[in-house]
Amino acid sequence: MAKLLEGKVIAEKIKEGLRQEIRLLKVKPVLASVQAGENAGAEAYAKSQKKTAEDLGIEYQFHKLGLDTSENGLIEFIRKLNGDKSVNGIIIQMPLPPQIDYKKISQFIHPDKDVEGMHPVNIGKIVFAKSRLLPCTPAAVMELLNSCCADLYGKEAVIVGHSEIVGKPLALMLLDKFATVTVAHIGTSKAQKLEEHVNKAEILIVAVGKAGLIKGGWIKEGAIVIDVGINRVEGKIVGDVEFAEAEKRASYITPVPGGVGPLTVTMLMRNLVEAAKSQQ
Ligand code: NAD
Repeated sequence: MAKLLEGKVIAEKIKEGLRQEIRLLKVKPVLASVQAGENAGAEAYAKSQKKTAEDLGIEYQFHKLGLDTSENGLIEFIRKLNGDKSVNGIIIQMPLPPQIDYKKISQFIHPDKDVEGMHPVNIGKIVFAKSRLLPCTPAAVMELLNSCCADLYGKEAVIVGHSEIVGKPLALMLLDKFATVTVAHIGTSKAQKLEEHVNKAEILIVAVGKAGLIKGGWIKEGAIVIDVGINRVEGKIVGDVEFAEAEKRASYITPVPGGVGPLTVTMLMRNLVEAAKSQQ
């Protein structure tokens, strides 16, 4: 039976270190969060960020703009935050109103204040293993792996999902540790090859958003399974992996909820502290 990889426990340890680093800063660090329009999900996420930030000694500034904010209006607002020396990091809450293209506006956040680690400059630096501001979810996955598998050298790692926020940067981060990396996606499924790839994974990371996509019986004996997926099924939150069956075969597995999620927000705060340190 697999051991549980609980993000909350690892997050608490990292937060303790962050509190100490924050105490050493000359000025209390500030995270500016921008939301355009009304969205209950975005507001709930911002609330949980605020709670974590304040618990660590970070000032959380919440800026709510109107639903009719134009792309240029938001870019102007971001420019103001870029120029504000008291602001160390900027996060844009999703979803944005339909008239605003996130990919376009995220490039206007100054790379040094890009605490989500998604600016092309920061993403590009991952190739050279030089990024100080890493995308939060892949960084959370690396922390989970670090907690249970000290050495990734030569390990067969399979990522299911090739999105810009999870699969693609994670592949680079795993390569940097000398894992042998396969990235599977919708094309792999359509070619009926998903089971074959999952079956060889010593380390399996799934970030798709389809409940039960990965059958428990596909998991290799002793594999480490990190389930990034978040799905609501009959009022309950579940991942992409059939947990009950997978748990019998894996050596370690993340629960959903309680696995990757709690660490992701901690990675955001770690980036903010990194940003504040380099700016001060
Ligand atoms: P996305 O929609 O951008 O990408 C989905 C990926 O899954 C794509 O690569 C696509 O090709 C692949 N895919 C779709 N159907 C497939 C299939 N049948 N077989 C194989 N691959 C398939 O999604 P995303 O933004 O990367 O998010 C993925 C999941 O992770 C979602 O459930 C999301 O809520 C969750 N998520 C969780 C966190 C966290 O912190 N816990 C953070 C980000 C995303």
